[in-house]
Amino acid sequence: MAGASVKVAVRVRPFSARESSRQAKCVIQMQGNTTCITNPKLPKDGTKHFTFDYSYWSHTSEEDPNFASQRRVYQDIGEEMLAHAFEGYNVCILAYGQTGAGKSYTMMGRQEPGQRGIIPQLCEDLFARMAREGSPELSFSVEVSYLEIYCERVRDLLNPKSRGGLRVREHPLLGPYVQDLSRLAVASFADIADLMDSGNKARTVAATNMNETSSRSHAVFSIVFSQRRQDPLSELATEKVSRISLVDLAGSERADASGAKGIRLKEGANINKSLTTLGKVISALAEATSKKKKPEFIPYRDSVLTWLLKENLGGNSRTAMIAALSPADCSYEETLSTLRYADRTKQIRCHAVINEDPNARLIRELRREVTRLRELLSAQGEGFGGNLGACAPPPSRRAPHLPPGLTDPSLTSSAPPSTAPPTLNGDPGLEPPLGPTEAMERLQETEKIIAELNETWEEKLRRTEALRLEREALLAEMGVALREDGGTVGGPPQPLTPLFTPKPPKQTPHLVNLNEDPLMSECLLYHIKDGITRWVGGLWDPQTPSGPPLGPPQFVFSPPGRVGRVDVDIKLSGPSIQDQHCLFRSCPDPSSGEAVVTLEPCEGAETYVNGKQVTEPVVLKSGSRLILGQNHVFRFTHPEQARRQRERGASPGPPLDWNLAQRELLEQQGIDMRL
Ligand code: ADP
Ligand code: MG
Repeated sequence: MAGASVKVAVRVRPFSARESSRQAKCVIQMQGNTTCITNPKLPKDGTKHFTFDYSYWSHTSEEDPNFASQRRVYQDIGEEMLAHAFEGYNVCILAYGQTGAGKSYTMMGRQEPGQRGIIPQLCEDLFARMAREGSPELSFSVEVSYLEIYCERVRDLLNPKSRGGLRVREHPLLGPYVQDLSRLAVASFADIADLMDSGNKARTVAATNMNETSSRSHAVFSIVFSQRRQDPLSELATEKVSRISLVDLAGSERADASGAKGIRLKEGANINKSLTTLGKVISALAEATSKKKKPEFIPYRDSVLTWLLKENLGGNSRTAMIAALSPADCSYEETLSTLRYADRTKQIRCHAVINEDPNARLIRELRREVTRLRELLSAQGEGFGGNLGACAPPPSRRAPHLPPGLTDPSLTSSAPPSTAPPTLNGDPGLEPPLGPTEAMERLQETEKIIAELNETWEEKLRRTEALRLEREALLAEMGVALREDGGTVGGPPQPLTPLFTPKPPKQTPHLVNLNEDPLMSECLLYHIKDGITRWVGGLWDPQTPSGPPLGPPQFVFSPPGRVGRVDVDIKLSGPSIQDQHCLFRSCPDPSSGEAVVTLEPCEGAETYVNGKQVTEPVVLKSGSRLILGQNHVFRFTHPEQARRQRERGASPGPPLDWNLAQRELLEQQGIDMRL
């Protein structure tokens, strides 16, 4: 089909509490699909106009007839992209903008009704449509991966064993892809929601422990959606495969604007490498379109992000970008630069094609490559090692699925950097010579891809389940609650919470994490066990996990909630966290029977309660903010106390969030935040 332009939308959010309290002025106006921005310093003649596919006014609330809700944004952009995925196109939605402008809100959203973003709505619709349209002739399969790019390093958010630093490679037949990135089979929306939640938790844990700023990382949620049609008469099967990439980009602000210094500045420069390259790629593609010529050189390979998104930017994809705007006058410069960026993006045209029967073709070509590599190696006198039989095609046991990003050969115009692995482009005349090591590596990699393509659906599901158990085991080891009711791990499984766990447990006093990034706040929950007894793990019969315990109930004396790095119930790491950092002791009050929770800092451990450093045991009140070490911030909740406070009609006060925790910490140190 002819090239289609990248769809571009902009969306302006309400004022934040901080902006409201500083009497910020709104510099954005919208009329139809036009957005105007007024320079607060030149209000008379400083207005600039931009026109996009959509201009979303989300600055007010539902009562405003012009208000654009989460649903509306999804219906315009998400539904169209999902329809393209069903047609068999690759699709991509990118969220761009300054930190705090509303990218994650638009992509992921919040848990409350009506607040869910494009990703959960699209996934839910995907499964609803599959259920409606599926038939004996038409079957579907969905696989998911979730990665994060931080400082040009790729981290798999769904595989707990992955420590970050996955390699991005370019396969001559597959295009750029992340080596060893897990792709997990999912059978329902609940499965996907669970993976999203796990991925967000993994991101939060890594960011907190390593003191990373999430605003500097890019999150890429990908869905590989396959449709297989079996013709009942001819018994011939045809397949369409679409890759759906949903990208929440790092904050677009310049590193120097955020006051970054030292390592942070370097990180900023590195992240900006991805964003700056994205800017260059977009400019180069936009220029090529305006001059109606084929782009000569597009620097996709200059950054991990653009390399991975190569197809989505000007290649084989239907792509949409949503630029999130801050309304406030103090963000004028950044917002204007976001509008200009979005304006350039709308010039890009992509050349999407329906990915029909890619797997059959791919497997054929991959096998051809294996043969070629073997010949090359044997000509070089190399032994093959033991596993080369692995690439022999198993005859008919496959439910094939497309590996990442098929390349459009017309767009391989970017020259590989000198450090890149040599490419094998199918034309021996053009191919740089492959040394024996590279050829062997390539051979093994190709065999692995063939093996993955030949994996049955059941095998994939088993792998998904195995990884889920590993993820849960890791979180349990860190003391993070997995179940809604606070059930101890090792007890009978409880139903998983639908989307974005955790829901607060009914009774148990607990901690939730607080984070600067709202997406990462309140997603990790730690129970402070209610007392003296707890189940011994392992008493439950794994065959009938929901049944009664096998032996007589056994209780053991529960140690208090120990926090630290080693031999503890709640495991934290990062700057200033000691091996044994502090204890939470929960004992019933002798008269009321209600749990009283005491925090006991270990000697020399940096521990703050409501901004004040504590060195002696303190009884915690519901709502207290705790800071352990330098970056672990929590809110303590005692459900019973909180209920009583509500019944007494206590005024809610300021939100007990990360900002409050930081503000009071600085105030205790004599720094006035209002300056
Ligand atoms: P970003 O991901 O761009 O850094 P967020 O999506 O986290 O920004 O948004 C910052 C804050 O603003 C969050 O608390 C979010 O809930 C809120 N927010 C953003 N956009 C909207 C919107 N359209 N409506 C209501 N709240 C919003
Ligand atoms: Mg965000």
